[in-house]
Amino acid sequence: MIPTAFDYERASSVEEAVHLLQSHKGEARILAGGHSLLPLMKLRLASPAVLVDIGGIQDLKGIAVEGKDLVVGALTTHSELSRDERVKKNLPLLAEAAGLIGDLQVRNRGTVGGNLAGADPASDLPAVALALEARLMVEGPQGAKEIPMEDFILGPLLTALGPDEVVRAVRFPIPAETWKGAYAKFEHPASGYAAAGAAVVLLLDEGGTIKEARVAITGAADMAYRARAVEEALKGEKADEEVFTRAAEQAAEGASFSGDLFASGDYRRHLAQVYTRRALRKAVS
Ligand SMILES: Cc1cc2nc3c(=O)[nH]c(=O)nc-3n(C[C@H](O)[C@H](O)[C@H](O)COP(=O)(O)OP(=O)(O)OC[C@H]3O[C@@H](n4cnc5c(N)ncnc54)[C@H](O)[C@@H]3O)c2cc1C
Repeated sequence: MIPTAFDYERASSVEEAVHLLQSHKGEARILAGGHSLLPLMKLRLASPAVLVDIGGIQDLKGIAVEGKDLVVGALTTHSELSRDERVKKNLPLLAEAAGLIGDLQVRNRGTVGGNLAGADPASDLPAVALALEARLMVEGPQGAKEIPMEDFILGPLLTALGPDEVVRAVRFPIPAETWKGAYAKFEHPASGYAAAGAAVVLLLDEGGTIKEARVAITGAADMAYRARAVEEALKGEKADEEVFTRAAEQAAEGASFSGDLFASGDYRRHLAQVYTRRALRKAVS
């Protein structure tokens, strides 16, 4: 439970953080809330030579509505996200999911940027960010760029971020039409991490027919994923229980499920189906 020795640097701007990462040539890691990275270091599953602390960078904090997007600074904590009135009003499923993360201490320290950049297969926010088609605003040596959430997570603990890139903020588009959304999760009893979590966004026409469905699942499989087969099964259908049950049966399609001490691969596959159905039900209730 003792990490290997490391150096500590504190960045006062995003540009300085990028410069520090660059100067350590792949040996440095960003430190935000530390609630994923430090446990990994204590278990010696990560041994960065240098930690670049971004915790004091004001530019990375805050929540704003900009045009049709809700923009959340990377250092925004889960507590801030779950309580913010703009988030609750515009994207209630995001506030809801943030409020279900871990316990109060974890929510007060853990950040949105760290949750997504950590790419833990059991984290809650990747599912919500996938269903909302979020975009990550990234700063690197070549300047600023955007990475769509769908292209961001490449595997367990693996993202499209380069070794000297920093997530500055996350842009969550606010769906323009009549829509409903929800997040439902089966949490690990010890940590609160998602053993299965489903985020659902349904765009409905005036008669209640589903024009477009976005469904994303976390926790159950080896990485968070869009459940495209469920989305196809929902499109053009009435938003009712029978349709939800039939569509949710396809929630495990295209994903890879491994077992561990807590749950077998088959059980996780089953949980993905059950929690997809529950999220769909919750969205229209
Ligand atoms: C007991 C416990 C229970 C938890 N339960 C849950 C849960 O139920 N659901 C859940 O989703 N999460 C859970 N978490 C995780 C927690 O919510 C944090 O979101 C998570 O630890 C990552 O955020 P952080 O700010 O702590 O990131 P850190 O630990 O500081 O960093 C995580 C990773 O992201 C990188 N990183 C961080 N910020 C940036 C950035 N801006 N740009 C580029 N890279 C960056 C770091 O280099 C590191 O690789 C739990 C954690 C603990 C300890």
